[in-house]
Amino acid sequence: MGPDAGADFPRAVLLSAARGVLEATREMLLSHSPANITDTELEIEAIQERVLEEAGRIMKPSLRKVINATGVVLHTNLGRAPLSPAAIEAIKEVSEGYSNLEHRLETGERGSRQEHLEPLLCRLTGAGAAMVVNNNAAAVLLALSALAKEREVIVSRGQLVEIGDSFRLPDIMKQSGAVLVEVGTTNRTSLADYGKAIGEETALIMRIHQSNFRIIGYTEDVSLKELVGLGRQYSIPVVEDLGSGSLVKLDAKGLSGEHTVGESIMEGADLVTFSGDKLLGGPQAGIIVGSQEYIEPLRKHPLARALRVDKMTVGALEATLLEYLDPEAVWKKVPVLRMLTEPTESVKRRAARLKRIIDRARPADLEYLVTEDISRAGGGSLPTTEIPTYCLSLSHKRLSAAALEEMLRKSEVSVLGRLKEDRLLLDMRTVTDTEVSLLADIILNVA
Ligand SMILES: *Cc1c(COP(=O)(O)O)cnc(C)c1O
Repeated sequence: MGPDAGADFPRAVLLSAARGVLEATREMLLSHSPANITDTELEIEAIQERVLEEAGRIMKPSLRKVINATGVVLHTNLGRAPLSPAAIEAIKEVSEGYSNLEHRLETGERGSRQEHLEPLLCRLTGAGAAMVVNNNAAAVLLALSALAKEREVIVSRGQLVEIGDSFRLPDIMKQSGAVLVEVGTTNRTSLADYGKAIGEETALIMRIHQSNFRIIGYTEDVSLKELVGLGRQYSIPVVEDLGSGSLVKLDAKGLSGEHTVGESIMEGADLVTFSGDKLLGGPQAGIIVGSQEYIEPLRKHPLARALRVDKMTVGALEATLLEYLDPEAVWKKVPVLRMLTEPTESVKRRAARLKRIIDRARPADLEYLVTEDISRAGGGSLPTTEIPTYCLSLSHKRLSAAALEEMLRKSEVSVLGRLKEDRLLLDMRTVTDTEVSLLADIILNVA
C-alpha cells in the first residue's frame, strides 16, 4: 500500500476512521486471549486496509440508485414514481441557480409559488382553483384543519383506510381537530346512513378512495354524485381523497377503471385531493383542486406554510403537468404511464435482450429463462389489476433463491426482484432499456 492510499478521502474522515479502527483493535486485544489473535490482524498493512475500508463506508451515500426488478411500478419503499426527463431538467434548472419562484417578473411584485401550478391544474382537471402541498396526507390534514376543526366530518366505515407503514387515515384526520362521524358498516353504507348523520355540527362529507384494497361480495357504496346531491341539499361541502388521482382514463389502456380527477370535479366534488407521485407520475406532492370558495381558506391557514412544497417540487410537478397537455404523447413521456401500459411483447423483448447478454458469458452455475408473470401498479393504486409481464427467472446450482436474492440486493448497485416458488424473478416491466446491460453485469458478477 503506497503513501497515497488514502488520498481519495478527506483528512478528517481518515482520522476518524483510524481512531475507530484503532479503538476496535484495542478492544479486541483486551477481550481476547492472545492465542486467538493472529499476527496478521495486527500488521500495519492490515490495519491500514481496515482504515481505508472504514473511510469508504463513511463516505458512501446512504441513499442511492437501485434497479427495481420487482415489477411494482409505484413502489413506495423504492421512491414511487421515476420522473420524466423534462421533470429532471426542471429540478436541475431551478436548483442550480435562482428562479422566479415567488417573484412576478411582469410587475416586479411578490408572487406565490402556487401560481406556477394552479393554472395548469385547473386546465387539466376543470377545477376553479388549486394548490399543492407536501404530500396527500398533508393535503387531507390541511383540508380538514381549515374546514372542519372541532366540527364533524362524516365518513363511511368502509373507507377508513390504512395507507401503509401503519399510517391510518383516521389518525391523520383526528390530528386536524376534526371529529370523525363514522357511518355504515365495513361492507355496506347507504345514502340514508349519511343523511341520518347530518346535524348542526357537520362541517364536511368526506369520501376516501379505498386505494390498496377492495371489498367484494355483499357490498353497497354511495357514489360521489349521490354524496354531492346530499351535500347540496344541506349546503355541506363534499371532499374526496382520491389517493392516486389519475388525470387520464386508464381504462382505454386495459387498466381497470379509476375515476379521474376531472370526473370527480365534473360530478361536483368541492375539493379533491391526490398524490403527485402515484398514478400522476410526478414528484412527491399533495394536490388539492376544487372551488375557489373552499381552496381560499386552505391557502390562508397557518399549516399551509408548514406544509408547503419546495422549488424542486414545483419545477418537477410543473414539467410533469405540462406533459399532460399532449394527451397522446403523455403515455410515452411520463415513465409511470409508460411502464403501466408498455405492451407485453415489448417487455418480453427486453427480457430476451437481458438473456442474450448473459448467454454470451455462459455462466456455468446459473439457470435462467424468460417467463410470463404478473406486474402490479403498487403505491395503493389499482390493487386488483394484474398486468401481464415477462421476467428473467433465475436459479443457481449452489445458491438458494433467497441467497441469490440477498446477493443481488447487496451488490454494488442493488437489484431488487421477487421470490416465487424457489426462483428469483426479475420483472422487466420496471427495468428500463438503459439498465439492461448494467443488470446483466451485476447478475454475472454474482453468478
Ligand atoms: C396514498 C394515499 C394517501 C397518502 O398519500 P401520500 O401522498 O403518500 O401522503 C392518502 N389517502 C389515500 C386514499 C391514499 O391512497
